[in-house]
Amino acid sequence: MAEEIKAKEAPKRKVILTGDRPTGRLHVGHYVGSLKRRVELQNSGEYDDIYIMIADAQALTDNADNPEKVRQNIIEVALDYMSCGLDPAKSNLFIQSQVPELTELTFYYMNLVTVSRLQRNPTVKSEIQQRGFETSIPVGFFTYPISQAADITAFDATTVPVGEDQMPMLEQTKEIVHKFNSVYGKALVEPEILLPSNQACLRLPGIDGKAKMSKSLGNCIYLSEESDEIKKKVMSMFTDPTHIKVSVPGKLEGNTVFTYLDAFSKPEHFEAFLPEYANLDELKAHYQRGGLGDVKVKRFLNEVLQAELAPIRERRKELMKDIPYVYEVLKKGSEKAESVAAATLARVKNAMRINYF
Ligand code: ATP
Ligand code: MG
Repeated sequence: MAEEIKAKEAPKRKVILTGDRPTGRLHVGHYVGSLKRRVELQNSGEYDDIYIMIADAQALTDNADNPEKVRQNIIEVALDYMSCGLDPAKSNLFIQSQVPELTELTFYYMNLVTVSRLQRNPTVKSEIQQRGFETSIPVGFFTYPISQAADITAFDATTVPVGEDQMPMLEQTKEIVHKFNSVYGKALVEPEILLPSNQACLRLPGIDGKAKMSKSLGNCIYLSEESDEIKKKVMSMFTDPTHIKVSVPGKLEGNTVFTYLDAFSKPEHFEAFLPEYANLDELKAHYQRGGLGDVKVKRFLNEVLQAELAPIRERRKELMKDIPYVYEVLKKGSEKAESVAAATLARVKNAMRINYF
C-alpha cells in the first residue's frame, strides 16, 4: 500500500530562482554572497531548472524617476552574470518586467499580508532609512517583499541562493505560501533559502567597513573593475584603527581586510603570493601578535582579488563585443519564464475560484 502511494507521487523537482536589481554593475559582495554559489549549483547538474531574474520592476520601486539607470543596468548585470559563468544553456536568464504574470500574482498575494507584517521586515526597515524615505515611502517599495514572493513561487522554486539580507523576504514568502495553500488549497511550492556557508560571505562589508557592500551606498569593488582601481580601493580599505605601528598587536574583529581574506583567499593564493605563511590562520596569528603591517596584508589581498577578478573581467570584455547576442539570451529567457509563470498563474486563479469561462 505504502509503495503504491509512493509510486503515484511525482518526483519533487529541484528548481532555483534568484536574481539581482539592475541598479548598478555587480560587485564582489554579490559574487561571494550569491553569484559564485549559483554557478556551482548550475554546474552540479542537480537542478531541473534554474531561473535567474534581473529585477527591473523591483528596481523601479525606489528608482521611479530614474528609468534610464535601470534600463542601462540590465545589460551590465547580464554581462556580469555571463562573465561569472552563468551559462544560458543551463540557466534561464530573464527580465522581470517582461513576465507580467508576476505582477498579477503579486496583486493576489497582497490580500494575504498585513501592513503591520510588512512594517516588521528588518531589511526593508533599514533600506527605508538608508534611502531617507521615512515619511514618503513609495507603496511599491514598501510591498516589494510580496512581489518577491510572486517571483519565487511563479517558478515553483525550491531553492533560493541569496545573501543574509534576503532572509526576511524568504520568511515572508513562506508565510504567503502557507496562507495561500491553507485558504485556497495546495497550489504553491514552499521554497528554502540557501545562504553562503562561509560566514564572511553572508553580508560582505563595503570597503568603508561600515555597512554591507551595496550598489546604493557606493562602497563597492565591482566585478568589472580595472586592475589599478582594485588596487587603489584595497589600499584605502578599513583595517584596525588602533593598529598604528607595525610592532603592536592588531585586531581582526571589524577588520575589513581580514573579512575579505576570509571570503576570498584560497590555499593556492598563499603558495603564489605569500609563501612565508602556510595559510590564513598563520597570517592572522602574526597580525594579532604584532609585527605584521597593514600594507603587507593589503598587498596580499590585492593579489588575491586580482587573481579572482582578472578572468571575469576578460570574459566580460569578450561578451561586450556582441551585445545583441546578450539581449537575445534575455529575450529567449524571458519568453520561457513567461510560459512557466503563466501556468502557475492559471493554477493560482483556479485555486482562488477566479476561473469563470
Ligand atoms: P541595492 O543597493 O540596489 O539594493 P545591492 O547591492 O543590495 O543593491 P541586490 O540586487 O539588492 O544588491 O542583491 C542581490 C543579491 O546579492 C541578493 O541575493 C543579496 O543577498 C546579495 N548581496 C548583495 N549585497 C551583498 C553583500 N554585501 N554580501 C553578500 N551578499 C550580498
Ligand atoms: Mg539590495
